Amino acid sequence: MSEVILTTVGVAPSVERKASMRAETDIVANLAAVRGRIDRACVEVGRDRAEVSVLLATKTVSADRIRVALAEGYRLIGENRVQELIEKDAGLAGQPCVRHFIGHLQSNKVNQVLRYVSCVQSVDRIGLADRLQRRLDALDTSVEVLLQVNTSAEASKFGVSPAEAVSLSREVAKRDRLRIRGLMTIGLLDPNSERVRASYRGLREVRDRIRDAAIDGVEMGVLSMGMSGDLELAIAEGATMVRLGSAVFGQRP
Ligand SMILES: *Cc1c(COP(=O)(O)O)cnc(C)c1O
Repeated sequence: MSEVILTTVGVAPSVERKASMRAETDIVANLAAVRGRIDRACVEVGRDRAEVSVLLATKTVSADRIRVALAEGYRLIGENRVQELIEKDAGLAGQPCVRHFIGHLQSNKVNQVLRYVSCVQSVDRIGLADRLQRRLDALDTSVEVLLQVNTSAEASKFGVSPAEAVSLSREVAKRDRLRIRGLMTIGLLDPNSERVRASYRGLREVRDRIRDAAIDGVEMGVLSMGMSGDLELAIAEGATMVRLGSAVFGQRP
């Protein structure tokens, strides 16, 4: 009798384990739903589905839960804080993932961030580009960057203004260890989808102007825009990378 009880206790998943199994199921189901939304958005506007990649925005998400998404075939992770990159690094060791930095990057954090990421999506000022260049010189390596553009005017503090984006591209391009690959924006947070869409259209127009300027070494293949609530609008305006957090991992605490 006692044996049966012991076995039962040993086999039954703990409350914690049950909650974590449920969370895993949710992430897998959420990813399927997100894929469906992207598929439909591409069909809607006649875009090739292969042009749109998903970056998992993993702020506040543990390495364990990130691994559930990686097991579904996703590779791109975006972190906002250097501290989180450091904390999750061991938990992601050996995982087939590519990390990008997508948060505001303070110049004094540059030395730490380069060890973890292959792309900094938030280059928005020349001082930051200089700090990156100096550190990369010391490391004798290079990094991919996106220029962050503020397409929502006063609503967001970070990002170069659309008017100054071409000249920032020219300046950053002179720092030979930064390989400019495209642009990133955080869209307008607004219930009016026309206004949100206009902010994404704004990024596309900046991309076109930079392309027209034909600056040596500057590639504009990546348009990183669109989040959980508005990925369809971003895809309609040409996004090649959508950054998804809550639609995949649930609401953040
Ligand atoms: C959090 C975050 C996202 C994802 O936001 P969701 O609405 O949760 O999808 C995308 N980009 C940046 C820069 C973020 O900080």
